[in-house]
Amino acid sequence: MTTIGVVALQGAVSEHIAMLTALGVSVREIRTPDRLDGVDAVVLPGGESTAMARAAAKVGLFDELSVRAGAGLPVFGTCAGLILLAERVQDGETLEGFATVGGLDITARRNAFGGQLASFTEDLAVAGLDGPAFPAVFIRAPQVVEVGPEVEVLARTGVDGPVVAVRQGHLLATSFHPELTADPRLHRYFVRMVEGLSARRAA
Ligand code: GLN
Repeated sequence: MTTIGVVALQGAVSEHIAMLTALGVSVREIRTPDRLDGVDAVVLPGGESTAMARAAAKVGLFDELSVRAGAGLPVFGTCAGLILLAERVQDGETLEGFATVGGLDITARRNAFGGQLASFTEDLAVAGLDGPAFPAVFIRAPQVVEVGPEVEVLARTGVDGPVVAVRQGHLLATSFHPELTADPRLHRYFVRMVEGLSARRAA
């Protein structure tokens, strides 16, 4: 059975666990590097990237996750999780001196839609998802302001607006919080992506 670890230091942890469990995968909370042994993929939830990076630094979690993600472990980052996966962060001064995960060839701009009051929901067309537009919840969300050549843009806000969902091979990231909706399609997309990648490794 596919086992997905959810980094459980801070933020929207239980919502990711509930959604993944409903999709039939085995879920494990990750607070220390040793818990990464044997997981097929990892989710980095939304919350506060600085708080997460500080908590992770105490146990060396992101150094280890960074090595594993660099070696092909699939990771899905949502909101703060996208920031932690980004190779470059704007307005990231409070992250300086703390390890993040990295690997995703994007520049993320933190709080790019404004503060807490600028939180909003928008129905988005997301490449790779069938059916109606996806109800995306944005909370002090980052924007992806640059993408490298290997990065596929999956969604933008508005008409040709800022990039808010990307994939680079085994790394998936959204500026918004798919775990705060009742719509499991992005989590299902990730589970299928993970299962597809492990089938390819096994072949
Ligand atoms: N603004 C937050 C940060 O910089 C992210 C917000 C969120 O995850 N909802 O980490």
